[in-house]
Amino acid sequence: MSTPGFALALHGGAGTIKKSHFSPAQEKRTRAALRSALELGVGLLTQGADALDVVEAVVRALEDAPMFNAGVGSVYTDTGRHELDVGIMRGSDLAAGAVCGVQHIAHPISLAKAVLLDGRHVLLGGEGAERFAQMQGFNLVSNDYFDHAERHKQWLLAKERAEFGHLETPDADASTSSAATGRTAAAPDKKFGTVGAVACDLHGHLAAATSTGGMTNKRWGRIGDTPIVGAGVYADDRSCAVSATGHGEYFIRACVAHDVAARMRYAGRSLAAAADEVVFQELAGMGGVGGLIAVDKQANIVLPFNSLGMYRAWQKQGEPPQVAIYQKQ
Ligand code: ASP
Repeated sequence: MSTPGFALALHGGAGTIKKSHFSPAQEKRTRAALRSALELGVGLLTQGADALDVVEAVVRALEDAPMFNAGVGSVYTDTGRHELDVGIMRGSDLAAGAVCGVQHIAHPISLAKAVLLDGRHVLLGGEGAERFAQMQGFNLVSNDYFDHAERHKQWLLAKERAEFGHLETPDADASTSSAATGRTAAAPDKKFGTVGAVACDLHGHLAAATSTGGMTNKRWGRIGDTPIVGAGVYADDRSCAVSATGHGEYFIRACVAHDVAARMRYAGRSLAAAADEVVFQELAGMGGVGGLIAVDKQANIVLPFNSLGMYRAWQKQGEPPQVAIYQKQ
């Protein structure tokens, strides 16, 4: 019997993303970054790489792309610093690794993977995570490695409005509907630039990875959903691999990533039905804005979001690569 082949999906965040926000050159650069991360992952999957290694490599590439809110492009906290949250999970044995509030790690996804491979703990925070990083041979970078003029402007705007979140210019378009379902969700003028990847490899194993700078102007050591297993990241070969992006407080409370997997395992839902229910009913019903990407062992891919846009790219073996930003590509 032939296997379903590999599948890979990645995202660069969801939110109030509209064509009018971009110059043609910016849009081209963003699409190119998504496509090149996709090509990297597809190349590895074609060679038979493990899903875990693939999602790490793809997220590392996205952490190097300054237009996304992860790695080098991470947003500012209320004190003008950068604190990064990351999680990774392997579907074959439910092994997981995560770090939160790290300030000196250029590729935190690789540190999360080191936590997973070490196996003693799942989630390490702040200074302790960085002590572990040094023991593992990671180089620490200065926090200003993450400084970026555009992000700095967004931070000043957020401070002025005493808000947190990744702010865009407000406009009248306050609600949106899913192209797939027509259901609506509140869409405040926020953009969530977290990155993530999910993969089904040629051996039929799944993995998920998510990495973020969190939300602009976040305070008091705030941790979002990204490093929380079952909220911003989840992988289980018995159901699916999920990476989420959006307003983390809602994603934590709705246990978004695990809810998709649980609906498949316990209620026999398809990947598409489970993901749509979570994004358009559970999450939207609470007022949570954002989306997710997910794959299952049959190499199905879904990318639902209840915001205006989500940076995303995906490819199934034997099919052409896809890159999209808005509801209609
Ligand atoms: N989910 C992330 C957080 O709340 C933000 C994002 O997706 O951009 O930290």
